[in-house]
Amino acid sequence: MCPPVEEWVRQAMAFGFSHAAPAALAALRVRPEVRDMCAADRCRLYGRSWMCPPACGRLEDIQKQLHGCSAGLLVQTTGALEDDFDYETMEAAGKKQKELFRAFRRVLAPTRPGLLALSSGGCALCPACAYPDAPCRLPGEALPSMEAFGLVVSEVCRDSGLPYYYGPGTITYTGCYLW
Ligand code: SF4
Repeated sequence: MCPPVEEWVRQAMAFGFSHAAPAALAALRVRPEVRDMCAADRCRLYGRSWMCPPACGRLEDIQKQLHGCSAGLLVQTTGALEDDFDYETMEAAGKKQKELFRAFRRVLAPTRPGLLALSSGGCALCPACAYPDAPCRLPGEALPSMEAFGLVVSEVCRDSGLPYYYGPGTITYTGCYLW
C-alpha cells in the first residue's frame, strides 16, 4: 500500500529537498496563458522537445489527466544567492533540484504506477532532442515541466500553502509528483 502523502513529504525532506508539501489538487488548473508564454519561445524549446508544447499534449487532455489524480507532492530546492548576479548558485540549485527530482521519482514510481512527475525547466538530457524525427531516447528519464502542462507554479504553491519565493537573496525551483 502507498504511504499517505504526509509520509512522502517527510521522505522528500530527508532525501534532500529544501521544502516539500502535499499539493492541493484543486490548484491543478491548466491555463492557456501559460501555453501562450511557451509559444513566445523565450526558452527556445517550444516545438523542439518531446517534453514541451505542443508535443507534450493538449491542455484539454492534460486537464483530464490532472483531474484523475488523487494526491500530489510539491518539492523544492532553494539556493542562497551572494547577489542578484550569482548565476553560479542559480545554476547549481537548478541542477540539484533536477537530480534530486529524478532520483526521488525512482523511489516513488514503484509504489505508484502511472506516476506523473512534472519538473522545473525543459528536458535537457540530450545535447539535441530527438524531436520530431525520432522517438524520445530516454522515455523513462525525460521530464516535462509544470509550465509545459499549463500550470502556474506560483499559484499551485500558494494554494498548497507552500511559498514560491523565499525572499531576497534566494532562488527556488519547484516540481511536483502526482498520482
Ligand atoms: S530525453 Fe532527450 S529525446 Fe527525450 S525529451 Fe529529453 S532531450 Fe528529448
